[in-house]
Amino acid sequence: MAAFGSVFMPKMALATFENGNWSEANMVASDSIQLHPGAHVLHYSSTCFEGLKAFRHADGSIHVFRMDQNIKRLAQSSRLLSLPAIDEANVAKMIIEAVAEFASDVPEPPGSMYIRPTHVGTEAAIGKAAAPTSSSMLYVLLSPVGDYFTGGAKALRLLLDETGMRCAPHMGMIKSGGNYASALGPISRARDDVQADQILFCPNGDVQETGAANFLLIDGNEIITKGLDTTFLHGVTRSSILTLAADLGMTVTERDLTVAELLERAAKPEVEAVLSGTAAVLTSVGTFIHNGKEYKVGTGEPGPAALKLRQALNDIQWGRAEDKYNWLTKVV
Ligand SMILES: *Cc1c(COP(=O)(O)O)cnc(C)c1O
Repeated sequence: MAAFGSVFMPKMALATFENGNWSEANMVASDSIQLHPGAHVLHYSSTCFEGLKAFRHADGSIHVFRMDQNIKRLAQSSRLLSLPAIDEANVAKMIIEAVAEFASDVPEPPGSMYIRPTHVGTEAAIGKAAAPTSSSMLYVLLSPVGDYFTGGAKALRLLLDETGMRCAPHMGMIKSGGNYASALGPISRARDDVQADQILFCPNGDVQETGAANFLLIDGNEIITKGLDTTFLHGVTRSSILTLAADLGMTVTERDLTVAELLERAAKPEVEAVLSGTAAVLTSVGTFIHNGKEYKVGTGEPGPAALKLRQALNDIQWGRAEDKYNWLTKVV
């Protein structure tokens, strides 16, 4: 099977911002865009993106999950990067138009259509290292994806890193390309040196998140995760899981968590740790690696709480449970 995110629908929705105005959105070929080699994004990283999914229900209808939240986050990322302000209603129309055009290509559960809105600065102006781009391009790319867990979910190995950080602290809540490039060096070294799957960034002992997913600790009936601040990405999956956990009668605690407390709690057999994000929903963590020592998380295997929470979220996404928070937008 093709790697996640490497297959694209042949068309995408595209709009451009020039002279103070957004153009009409059009469906265009998705195999190329035209960009000046001096484009602002290519030099000064004026770029942000989103990741959300559309799901097929048993009756054939197609639904996008929490589109409003992702559009709000794209608007926030654009604002914090001094990109032109997006038109949120138009972006919603672009997403719906693109998904509607390829509705018949949306895979059956556990697959889905991954949606990648992308906003980049296009002004050809290499003198603007310290000034915003005056023009930009926003497109919505579609990629049908299968089950992230084919072949069975294996619990991940995470390196706890207390000295580095994923990105500059004021960039953490922005879904922007440079942040991922910034974390690649440390992640590659962690793979080579200690066979870690990911790094859990814990600057000065403060447990934050991995390169592209949020971190949650489940201790019996309590779910603990860092409270929102500017240093890390405010995941839509994180927020959805916390809502569903509360519905299931769990105690939801949003607060700072230290590495010391994390390692102490991880030793208990009933403890689970998970990563959350749109692509994989919830992935269990089996091992922490810290200062050359390995610590099993609970049993070291994917646990029942992660399974139950993932199922609760999938049931809503797949139309098998009531969508009581109106998280779904029907496309067709
Ligand atoms: C996208 C992302 C997440 C997860 O966000 P979701 O909205 O749940 O997909 C978490 N951390 C980082 C750094 C991300 O880029």
